[in-house]
Amino acid sequence: MDTADRSDAPVIVVLDGPAGTGKSTVSREIASRLGLSFLDTGAMYRAMTHWLLQHGVDVDDADAVALASVKPVIRSGTDASGPTITVDGRDVSGPIRGAAVTAAVSAVSAVPEVRTRLVELQRGSAEAAPRGIVAEGRDMGTVVFPRADLKVFLTASATTRAARRAAQLGVDDPAGIAEILADIERRDAADSGRATSPLAKAEDAVEVDTSEMAPDEVIEHILGLVRERVAAVPSR
Ligand code: C5P
Repeated sequence: MDTADRSDAPVIVVLDGPAGTGKSTVSREIASRLGLSFLDTGAMYRAMTHWLLQHGVDVDDADAVALASVKPVIRSGTDASGPTITVDGRDVSGPIRGAAVTAAVSAVSAVPEVRTRLVELQRGSAEAAPRGIVAEGRDMGTVVFPRADLKVFLTASATTRAARRAAQLGVDDPAGIAEILADIERRDAADSGRATSPLAKAEDAVEVDTSEMAPDEVIEHILGLVRERVAAVPSR
């Protein structure tokens, strides 16, 4: 296992990209191998969305979402071997992956007040990480951690991403896969087109197209980038 030797500042590695590029699996494994904390920021937007839906807030009413967004207490446990997400003290790791949250999350994450609140929590998680953090999302490199030690932007074709999601969910019929593809394309368009912090590659991010790569290859490739570029992580 590599060790992240914290010299003065904690190491920050960020991975951004659209849904279904394997960001979560890859980020978590990299954090684990480097002995760093792990933050899935998509889970935070999902947790906020879950709370709003549970409390009957109309997620298409940006003013109502903005007002309510200060209320839920969202906590991310950043241990890479077992990340957790709670809202008001309750574990929501299951329900945040459901269809209702997935359908509503892009509308919620487009509301600037939601982003301000969650970005503050995200930066707090990084500050609290003893050795540093691997954070994944859509705006980690552009907005949340503009001075990250390494920025990676993962891509893959929409059909590859839909096939991966389908495999994860155990869906194998063509209609089911087509529905997943449509959902991915809808979220891509919403996440890339929103006014506040759209999904975008930071100028200084390294783009990695994972379409033809197995997860292990992606992990090894990014670990190589970390060794090359992050001074605080000694090469093996
Ligand atoms: O990564 P995941 O697919 O779980 O993210 C769910 C949604 O959360 C995304 O579609 C996007 O709308 C939002 N998100 C975001 N900014 C982030 C992470 C996620 O807007 N940093």
